[in-house]
Amino acid sequence: MKIPVLYYHKIDYPKKDAVYKGLYVTPEQFKRQVSLLKFLGYDTVNPKEILSFIKGHKPPVKKPLLITFDDGYENNYLNAYPILKSAGFSSIIFVSSGFIGKKSVVSDERERVKENFLNKNEIKEMFKNGFFIGSHGINHYYLDRLEEGVLIGELIASKAYLEHIINAPVDFFSYPFGAYNPIVMRAVKNAGYTAAFTTASGRIEVGDNSFELKRIPVNGYNNILNFLLKIFF
Ligand SMILES: [Zn+2]
Repeated sequence: MKIPVLYYHKIDYPKKDAVYKGLYVTPEQFKRQVSLLKFLGYDTVNPKEILSFIKGHKPPVKKPLLITFDDGYENNYLNAYPILKSAGFSSIIFVSSGFIGKKSVVSDERERVKENFLNKNEIKEMFKNGFFIGSHGINHYYLDRLEEGVLIGELIASKAYLEHIINAPVDFFSYPFGAYNPIVMRAVKNAGYTAAFTTASGRIEVGDNSFELKRIPVNGYNNILNFLLKIFF
């Protein structure tokens, strides 16, 4: 068995000036994908179950699936959360803590388009309703380019701030830009995280390194057929 971990950014309509229009999956596309997953018998699991699975334990459901979002855009709350909730699905949102509550700002130096980010209340509400919160650092930096002190600060302070917001441990991390190396991996582990997700494409298998977990990117260019192919192969 291999467990698919889907990886999204924005559930919204592409902005005219967006450089990476593929980062937008429209609410209609997302709804179709969630309905299809439901129809195929998938159930979303707690990210902790992924760790048990790679250590050789049996997952709690027949067809486990994890849905993840990176960056912490407000459209995750406005557009994705209602669709997931009505399907009985959950997800983990990897939030860049420095952007919490910010409106109309640029988070990604490659992207340049302005977005609104989740505020504390939205994060709290989703967490209370069975969604999971992970860290994506503070400033959305390339972690493999930072001095050690700055790197450690990004990892520890984002974790502490998110834990303060949800009043619960934040154990999962996702590397901004998918950028990591052995030093970054070790720092993430030393900061107290139990696992980290990359942007490398693939499904989760028994024996995987918990600080190098693969995901399946879903973008706005995927029609429903290649969405299906991505999950299966
Ligand atoms: Zn990101």
